[in-house]
Amino acid sequence: MNAKTVMENDAKYIAHAYARNPLVLEKGKNATAWDADGKKYIDFTSGIGVNALGWANEGWVEAVTKQLSTLQHTSNVFYSEPCTIAAKMICEKSGMKKVFFANSGAEANEGVIKAARKYSFTKYGPQRRTIVALENSFHGRTMATLSATGQDVFHQYFFPFVEDFKFAKANDTEGTIAMLTGEVCAVMMEMVQGEGGVMPLDKEYVKAVYDYCQAHDILLIVDEVQTGIGRSGTFFSYQQFDIQPDLVSCAKGLGGGLPIGAVLFGEKTEDVFGPSDHGSTFGGNPAVCAGAIYVMNQIDDAFMAEVAKKGNYMREKISKMAHVKSVVGMGMMLGVELEEGYTSKQVLSALLQNGLMVLTAKAKVRLLPPLTITQEELDEGLAIMEQTLANM
Ligand SMILES: *Cc1c(COP(=O)(O)O)cnc(C)c1O
Repeated sequence: MNAKTVMENDAKYIAHAYARNPLVLEKGKNATAWDADGKKYIDFTSGIGVNALGWANEGWVEAVTKQLSTLQHTSNVFYSEPCTIAAKMICEKSGMKKVFFANSGAEANEGVIKAARKYSFTKYGPQRRTIVALENSFHGRTMATLSATGQDVFHQYFFPFVEDFKFAKANDTEGTIAMLTGEVCAVMMEMVQGEGGVMPLDKEYVKAVYDYCQAHDILLIVDEVQTGIGRSGTFFSYQQFDIQPDLVSCAKGLGGGLPIGAVLFGEKTEDVFGPSDHGSTFGGNPAVCAGAIYVMNQIDDAFMAEVAKKGNYMREKISKMAHVKSVVGMGMMLGVELEEGYTSKQVLSALLQNGLMVLTAKAKVRLLPPLTITQEELDEGLAIMEQTLANM
């Protein structure tokens, strides 16, 4: 099928929930892709932070297909080995104690929200149930996670939303702590707000809120859906903030390209869920977990040092490019702030035409390259970016 037919079928048969870019991808290898007409692209998106090891990583494909040809699904009424290994690896890399597997970031966040409320309900009764999230956050598209998302544009049409979410201003320590009154059970935050515009939180802010929460038995929930699994230069981004959260959600990069989400429980919360408190038909799927195990096996200290190095390299090169005001982020999650008069959408279109795939996050150009991107691919992508910006 040629690109034109694919786009026509999409317009006719796929619900118009996405504003897609005019590119029909056909195949990829690591951070390089080709469209239906054979045109080549360098990928600075990883399918929104999902393809941590790029496209068609041989070891990952082998691990997944081996599991597929053995047992593709078991359901959670039986035991299976891959999810137990994946969970053990996550716990060992994060200091968390237990894992519940779901299938997406939003589902992982549904899990942390339910766990936080049950923890507090059991200990303090039904009134202590408010969750303080941050303005400008993004936590997903289900009803509860939309309710937890601190952006008004997401709070339309679908009323009534889930009650008792409040929003604090990120990096406003005093204001946030003032909101942590007797009915609050948890605070929820992304260490770098992703969809909200690649906005890193201040270390002092996170630590102060964490310390206050610890002292008052308010749970700290960290949404690592976008920042997790090596993206920030550490396995989880919170590991650079001198804290140990009570609940963590992760998803995107964990599966390396297959749908997975995970709720991570800390010492206080590890026994919150009992039988039938939560569940998922697909959660912990053996093939998906085989992929996650392969991904996590690659992400050792040396790998993460490379991520940090490549992130710094990108940051240094991009901050010198034309029309760039600043570059922010952590590791290989970067936001490029443009000079006035240049929109992120306009830059994305120009880059795509010239063979570089990027994302936007509000006014910023957002970059999430595969963590395995080679120096050659990186330089090729950066050269496209430099020339494109210079000619705008
Ligand atoms: C993408 C994202 C989600 C939602 O994940 P889905 O898999 O799309 O449901 C939640 N939180 C953050 C921080 C994200 O970046």
